Amino acid sequence: MKNKSTNLAVVSNKTFEATKVVNLNHYDISSALQTTLDFNKLIQNFSSKVASMVPHSAYVYTNKEFGLEIKNGVFSRHSCSYALKVEDQTLGELKLMRSHKFDIADLELLETLLCCLIYPLKNATLYQQALRMAYTDPLTQTSNRSAFDDYIKREISLATRHSKSLSIIFLDVDHFKHINDQYGHECGDVALTSVAKWIKECLRSSDAVFRFGGEEFVVILSETDLIGAELVAERIRNNIENHTMSYNMQAVNITASLGVSELRGNETVDALVKRADGAMYKAKKNGRNQVVLAF
Ligand code: GH3
Ligand code: MG
Ligand code: MG
Repeated sequence: MKNKSTNLAVVSNKTFEATKVVNLNHYDISSALQTTLDFNKLIQNFSSKVASMVPHSAYVYTNKEFGLEIKNGVFSRHSCSYALKVEDQTLGELKLMRSHKFDIADLELLETLLCCLIYPLKNATLYQQALRMAYTDPLTQTSNRSAFDDYIKREISLATRHSKSLSIIFLDVDHFKHINDQYGHECGDVALTSVAKWIKECLRSSDAVFRFGGEEFVVILSETDLIGAELVAERIRNNIENHTMSYNMQAVNITASLGVSELRGNETVDALVKRADGAMYKAKKNGRNQVVLAF
């Protein structure tokens, strides 16, 4: 477990499982950690509370399930890291760093202190999992309308504060009722999942897609003006048109109509969405399978 080599910076690398009952001497740490369900704050609190007992200059917390890498401080050559786990649930990996080696006494103390972190970390994980579920559309695994409502408010205030452009794309699948009627509701569900995937294929990691309603999706493009958003919308339209879905040995072709709007100064969420929706309706009227810009 503990590496004796003086050349190696990592002196401990093991899985830490909570088996010990929390020592009452660490009640202060435990209660401080129970005040938040936010990973960032939790790890920061833990680091500052244990700093006097196990001095360290930096920490890195990674959690693959949530795609997190939280780091802070001055990185140094010596480190110890623990894969945190409780009752078969993985809780990420915590690494502490400093300029001199962690000795056995440091590691033993740290392992006791980690007991105080494990259960608050488990609570944070359960909370974040529940939050993610509440924000995810179960059929297409894209974010849902509630997530959109929160996300767009944040993006609008960021764009306004930093004078950055922000655009949205409103997409509605063409003649979707016909797909349901002709091939069955289950085929309609597969079509929606496929459309969500084809949209995602055209986006950058900073763009976000939401299932807005039945067969309607909205894409939020941060730092993108109307012309940039038109290019993305056209790419999405083209990607959907160029795929043929196969369902029960039958080829099903899907197209979509898209409306694009760019945020104007002092514009509300409703007004921005309404303009994109209006442009999408124009695309329907003009014959579907096309992109229309809102001016
Ligand atoms: P248009 O080109 O004008 O958009 O025509 P449309 O048929 O796509 O539009 P309409 O609004 O008439 O029909 C939408 C259909 O989408 C009706 C509804 O039953 C179906 N729908 C909504 N949600 C779901 C879903 O989750 N799964 C399936 N299979 N169908 C759904
Ligand atoms: Mg519709
Ligand atoms: Mg439709």
